[in-house]
Amino acid sequence: MNQPTDNTPRVRTRFPPSPTGALHLGGARTALFNWLFARHHGGDFVLRLEDTDRKRSKQEHTDSIMAAMDWLGLDFDEGPFYQTQRLERYREAIDQMLEQGRAYWCHCSPEDLTKKREAAMKAGGKPMYDGACREKNLGPAEGAVVRFKGPRTGSTTFNDLVKGPITFEHKELDDLIILRSDGWPTYHLAVVVDDIDMAISHVIRGDDHVNNTPRQILLYQALDAAVPLFAHVPMILGPDKTKLSKRHGATAVVDYQTLGYLPEAMINALARLGWSHGDQEKFSLQELVELFGLDAVGRSAAVFDTDKLLHLNQRYIQEAEPARLAELLPPFLAERGITEYDQALLLACLPELTPRAKTLVELADWAEPFLKAEPEMSPKAVKKFLKPETSPVLERVLAMVQERGVEPEAMEAGVRELSEELGLKLGGIAQPVRVALTGRTFSPGIFEVMAILGAERVIARLKRALAIAKG
Ligand code: GLU
Repeated sequence: MNQPTDNTPRVRTRFPPSPTGALHLGGARTALFNWLFARHHGGDFVLRLEDTDRKRSKQEHTDSIMAAMDWLGLDFDEGPFYQTQRLERYREAIDQMLEQGRAYWCHCSPEDLTKKREAAMKAGGKPMYDGACREKNLGPAEGAVVRFKGPRTGSTTFNDLVKGPITFEHKELDDLIILRSDGWPTYHLAVVVDDIDMAISHVIRGDDHVNNTPRQILLYQALDAAVPLFAHVPMILGPDKTKLSKRHGATAVVDYQTLGYLPEAMINALARLGWSHGDQEKFSLQELVELFGLDAVGRSAAVFDTDKLLHLNQRYIQEAEPARLAELLPPFLAERGITEYDQALLLACLPELTPRAKTLVELADWAEPFLKAEPEMSPKAVKKFLKPETSPVLERVLAMVQERGVEPEAMEAGVRELSEELGLKLGGIAQPVRVALTGRTFSPGIFEVMAILGAERVIARLKRALAIAKG
């Protein structure tokens, strides 16, 4: 949309999860910000799986992360790329750095390093690598690693698009391992080579990565590559202002899907984790794409509030087209054993039900008695309302429906007359009828329920209830 026409590089963002678990709220927020930024600028969004942790990376996690992104509607233009398929490229980059004297083989054993670390800490210093092999010009060997030959003096400053300028003194950074003794590259090396090859223009990620950034900038420079722009978004807290965790409720995106949240509500809530636009709370996806910018991402931690999400979800359910809800409901109905049902009936009852439901789980619960051929009868409700004394009322209503049909105005007039004739309050008629039609003591207005079900179903259900009432 707003892709610059001058020769600034094309906006390209990425989402690089490690497939070691489900997509969590923090990751989803990172993915969303990158996606929104790319879409806002008419750029590209790249998906990359950082699967070099062979023990913890699993295909099932990749699948579940991609399913969660798909549910949220976060489509990608390129990828998924897998780091495990790019080992040759990393070796090439490492060889280039070795050749140019920007990296070196280090033969220090893990035991040596531990000893040195302990000695440094005892002396009150930082446990940094002392550079013992830096100038030795060593070659590869069993157990050897490759280290980046970082600058010893000076500093690196980058202008974080959220946090402003950040400076790191080079003497604080020791010579980072870029190739491990098992032949695998480290995270820093792989991420930089990937971001170079994938022409990433903006790295938007959680601020737990701020400390990695100067190290990575030095690697870009050592590889003679352009450095992307960085934006570190604030961490996410629970309502009690501690780091968001399981204690605060579900943390995986898929859990919210199962709990009956709409993806649009989830997107809306995730977008508000750190980003704002005045005091507006509710945003459509199109609005987010139009409005999103890093300048409106705050510096302080964001709070994820499940009550707010629930409230948003309720609003999205109320505003959703019945056809859209009908598309989302099948898994929730299936949970209740409803796999075959009349789609027209579902569409007809939804407008009466949506004002009552905060989640799709609740909506499915409200819809259940409509869709089941024979709704389950609550024993309590049956005991109270379907008994021999109420069968005359049910008989009269049955006759009325058989005669007049279920048109609400006619029914209401008929039931009023009946209540006068029998000296009963309206509820004395409505409650037994409600239980007869829905098996429950709560439902939308009884005349609406009748109209939605239609005369045929109403008659069948009244007959069934009559048989119960007469014992
Ligand atoms: N795989 C890293 C993570 O999940 C990505 C870090 C980055 O964005 O550079 O934290």
